Amino acid sequence: MIRDGKPYKDYADFLAEHFEGKVQKLSVDAGLGCPNRDGTLGTGGCSYCINRSFSPDYCRELDSVASQIEAGKRFFARKYPQMRYLAYFQAYTGTHASLDRLMSMYEEAVAQDGVVGLVVGTRPDCVPDSLLDYLEELSRRTFVMIEYGAESSHDRTLAAVNRCHTWTDVTDAVHRTASRGVHTGLHLILGLPGESRDDMLLTVDRVSELPVEVVKFHQLQLLKGTRILRQVNAGEIDICRWTLDEYIDLCASIVLRMDPRIAIDRFTSQSPEDMLEWPRWGVKNYQFMQMLGKRLASMRQV
Ligand code: SF4
Repeated sequence: MIRDGKPYKDYADFLAEHFEGKVQKLSVDAGLGCPNRDGTLGTGGCSYCINRSFSPDYCRELDSVASQIEAGKRFFARKYPQMRYLAYFQAYTGTHASLDRLMSMYEEAVAQDGVVGLVVGTRPDCVPDSLLDYLEELSRRTFVMIEYGAESSHDRTLAAVNRCHTWTDVTDAVHRTASRGVHTGLHLILGLPGESRDDMLLTVDRVSELPVEVVKFHQLQLLKGTRILRQVNAGEIDICRWTLDEYIDLCASIVLRMDPRIAIDRFTSQSPEDMLEWPRWGVKNYQFMQMLGKRLASMRQV
């Protein structure tokens, strides 16, 4: 369902299919670490990643799950007292712990007042069946969604940025999750090294064939201290340095190409100013969405 004459189904539309009233994700940093850094699945991490870019200020991993949620609720409730919340385990890899520890954290989260569900961000190779069995059971009690970092459907790209998983890992995880009735989303990065516009649109076609309900895109960001920035500066790899206008054009093509049943959460991400080297387009997400809406409207009039 697309509401309010918007040019495509967005995340608010998706939430409106499941909840009445305003619902907001509240990030929880459980300090779970990353299996692509600690040697469990790989070392060195993804070449573009610095974890500090993930967590909002109200999250401090040393605090309990309950106290992080309380702090987040205080932050949002000043403006929207009736707001309800989805506990969002996003930082690092939200399933990188024993099943007992994960169950204890997730149960603590969904037991908090005002929390109406759970969203877990993780890697596609970090979801054993035992965890999915538990989440299937939990989803009969509350809203549960897993968001997988897929980033690209091209294995050569995934290898180039040291993701240490394949596209087959993504499709396998998505099918195992969706078949259990757990809501499923994907994250994708636009502009990874070596990818053409056609490569990115092929990824959109492949995603459209999967039982995912939400996709979140963001532009590749070059962050200070990352390996990818060093590689770019040394001339070892080439990335697409598009202008804001070119990026809007790509995103418009994606909207027209994506299966319309899939909600698009966003197209941009904003890392903290002091960390970001490129791009510095100087637009907030809502401004970007307005520009994209205008571009789509003009394309449809042609
Ligand atoms: S993007 Fe995720 S998997 Fe990659 S290094 Fe960062 S936390 Fe680990």
